Amino acid sequence: MSSPSPRELANRVAVVTGASRGIGRATAIELAAAGAHVVVHAGHDGRAAERTAEPVRNRGVECRIVVADLTADAAQDALVEDAWQWRDGVDIWINNAGVDILTGDRRRWGFEQRLDALWQVDTRATIRLSRAIGKRMVQRGRGVILNLGWDGAERGMAGDTAELFAVCKGAVMAFTRSLAQSLAPAVRVNCLALGWIKTAWGEQASAYWQDRAREESLADRWGTPEDVARIARFLVSPQADFISGQIIQVNGGHRESPTTPPPQPDHPEQTHSS
Ligand code: NAP
Repeated sequence: MSSPSPRELANRVAVVTGASRGIGRATAIELAAAGAHVVVHAGHDGRAAERTAEPVRNRGVECRIVVADLTADAAQDALVEDAWQWRDGVDIWINNAGVDILTGDRRRWGFEQRLDALWQVDTRATIRLSRAIGKRMVQRGRGVILNLGWDGAERGMAGDTAELFAVCKGAVMAFTRSLAQSLAPAVRVNCLALGWIKTAWGEQASAYWQDRAREESLADRWGTPEDVARIARFLVSPQADFISGQIIQVNGGHRESPTTPPPQPDHPEQTHSS
């Protein structure tokens, strides 16, 4: 396989939701390095979005910031319309935005409250945004959609948080396969099933989780946002034109962890166990 040309996304328009930090931020910068003009979306934090926009623009492309809480249908519709109007169409749409239920106040929310929050953004918004942008892309005759899933959704993992992510990311993965069928051949749709990627929670996770994340990857380390961004760049590029309807695991290769169960207070999944 030949390596991607340096600016293989030149003049394409890409939207990355949840690009204010973590994986979305790294992806927006990576797509800019490939030549794409990028809509940097953030849920709430406009300043953080600016911190993504700066390195994006430094790569010689245009950048538009949109701050919108994707909990509401109207905000989702407005984001699609705004992004489409910006440069007369969208070539690449990455549904990366996800509610953080692992750090801050949401960590202490009840199971059902966290389920509603995750479902609303990670699942429902991904579905609605994909359908809306996909319809426009089909009418235009081209486009690529990339969704974000979780490798544990297919494998299973114990704990409240794992159950929540299994439902919400498993639905996204199943939806991806069907949407790819609906939008073919004009539009390709794929999904990344991520393993342990070090972002906000990973930075502050306990020694138990630091070890477990490392042990559960054949790579013997956490994944980085940049690991994910490089795969995303390839999948939305013309080099990946023959890949659609796929769930691609990005976890360094999974292996079962020999680690014993964690002590209760240290285990986010057990916080609300019944
Ligand atoms: P993160 O660092 O927590 O960033 C989440 C992004 O989503 C932020 O830009 C945030 O913007 C945005 N967001 C949160 N709530 C939102 C809302 N209500 N409306 C619109 N945007 C909202 O996340 P990450 O770890 O990089 O993960 C990125 C994606 O990969 C998520 O879908 C996540 O579920 C998935 N994933 C991650 C891992 C992992 O190990 N990190 C594993 C599997 C899957 P604001 O801060 O401005 O609200």
